Amino acid sequence: MTIIADTCGRHDTLGGACAAESNTVRYALEKFPMHSCRDNFLYALATEPIFNQLGMNKRDLPSNINFFMNVPVTESGDLTFSDGVSAPGKYVEMRAEMDVLVLISNCPQLNNPCNAYNPTPIRLLVWDSPCA
Ligand SMILES: [Zn+2]
Repeated sequence: MTIIADTCGRHDTLGGACAAESNTVRYALEKFPMHSCRDNFLYALATEPIFNQLGMNKRDLPSNINFFMNVPVTESGDLTFSDGVSAPGKYVEMRAEMDVLVLISNCPQLNNPCNAYNPTPIRLLVWDSPCA
């Protein structure tokens, strides 16, 4: 997919999806059973028929993009979580260059203050190409 419009301008492509393991290391041992994006993706792979029909499994999960998440890289190369720079109405528009399957985990990350502990809904619009 190609990003063709972006009114936020700040997204994380390095941090990856949160997982039970990373939440445990990053926050606390008792966070292990909490939801995680990785678990959401694995659940979708296991329960959505299209993935089974295509013979897809966790090996087919590519790296994800954390849209609207502000994760600056420090001069020493560390990743940091910073306050979000997004706001209501900000959007990213993408054009699919081929048929795609999209998995979205609107992570309500409850362990760090990047969303001011106030996760909000997202809105998705999908339309066919005028050339389709
Ligand atoms: Zn997450």
